[in-house]
Amino acid sequence: MTLHPNSAEARDVAYHLHGYTNARAHQQTGPVVIERGEGAYVYDSEGNRYFEGMAGLWSTAVGFSERRLAQAAARQMEKLPYYHSFGGRSHGPAIDLAEKLIELAPVPMSKVFFTNSGSEANDTVLKLLWYRSNAMGQPHRKKVISRLRGYHGVTIASASMTGLPINHASFDLPIANVLHTGCPHHYREGLEGESEEQFATRLADDLEAMIQAEGPETVMAFIAEPVMGAGGVVVPPATYWDKIQQVLNRHDILLIADEVICGFGRTGQMFGSQTYGMKPDILVMSKQLTSTYFPLSAFMINARVFEPIADESNRIGVLGHGFTGAGHPVGAAIALENLAIIQERDLVANSAEVGGYLQAELRTLADHPLVGEVRGVALIAGIELVLDKAAKTAAETPGKLGGYAAARLFEHGVISRAAVDTITLCPPLIVTRSDIDGLLVALRKSLDETL
Ligand code: PLP
Repeated sequence: MTLHPNSAEARDVAYHLHGYTNARAHQQTGPVVIERGEGAYVYDSEGNRYFEGMAGLWSTAVGFSERRLAQAAARQMEKLPYYHSFGGRSHGPAIDLAEKLIELAPVPMSKVFFTNSGSEANDTVLKLLWYRSNAMGQPHRKKVISRLRGYHGVTIASASMTGLPINHASFDLPIANVLHTGCPHHYREGLEGESEEQFATRLADDLEAMIQAEGPETVMAFIAEPVMGAGGVVVPPATYWDKIQQVLNRHDILLIADEVICGFGRTGQMFGSQTYGMKPDILVMSKQLTSTYFPLSAFMINARVFEPIADESNRIGVLGHGFTGAGHPVGAAIALENLAIIQERDLVANSAEVGGYLQAELRTLADHPLVGEVRGVALIAGIELVLDKAAKTAAETPGKLGGYAAARLFEHGVISRAAVDTITLCPPLIVTRSDIDGLLVALRKSLDETL
């Protein structure tokens, strides 16, 4: 590919190192430059229009052209463009947002801590729980259990909790005290003849066995997404969360719900924890919190988590943790406006309604020779591709089939992501049935071209 020397594409290749991109190949292929957005669609620098089937990165609940968010940002920029929360300082947007999140919480929560990304939020959670264990006179209780294929981010601790090989390879991860248990994906991990119910029981038994082997008194927390996202959209069996929580409760192990993707309507209710009957002690949020018009994340903790942390900070004199930009007034103002829009327009109900339609339509693809499994809930979905349906095998190189199909979809004007050989979809919460109809036309064509 020859790039015009002064083009944005050429300058990108010259100066910009991209995350989640093959850095060497990018020198040849160059970027796709996205220039503007309109509702659930974006336009590239050549004027091509795409249905943003991933809402960016599972992010933009209200779509790509919500003027109310731009206006809320501008108003806050002019009034107070920045302030922080160190040393007991505060400002209106952070206070209002903290209060709003506690009000929305699916279970009683005590406090909100602000951070700047999902990774940073999860990293901070782990750090604060170590602090809490020390405060409680349990310095041995430092282990966290996450799941294979779970995604919790890319900082040193978050990437360690992430259960995907590419996030560990050559990064010298995972760190100590992070363990991984099984992924609740029945299609891939279920044994021959095993029902979903039996599979869920086996996963809970495996968790119990891991806790016993490690020593229950050493295990501090379990972290999980209600529905796995980046690991390929894994919806757990119906009884999974109930069984897992019984194990955790037995050993007084805290539950961290990573709702970075599921939060704010993605699964058809405000939080994935509600959809799946989870009772987390800590709930992590980002992405749809501001529709990612601004990088802002947060987590809520219940009183059980907060009280020992407060005691320890009192003993030491200060809670020695916090980020310069955390709870940023502009980000908080955007989040408040975004949440107001989600509630006023009842986008959570739209997610359930149009999401139900999406799920039903996608399941009509199940007969396609390349489709191994269609899965998802409301507005999050995965289509797992295989070359041999009976053997459930894909191409020899993992990801080749998924990557090829996603590239065909892109040519037909749909942005998706391939999680190995699963095409993942997570459109903005504002989508309509007619958007879904267009998506299905593109999907059918792309799958046929992948055959
Ligand atoms: N947790 C989950 C469930 C995620 O999906 C992500 C990002 O995709 C993260 C954490 C990390 O968030 P960030 O990319 O903002 O660091």
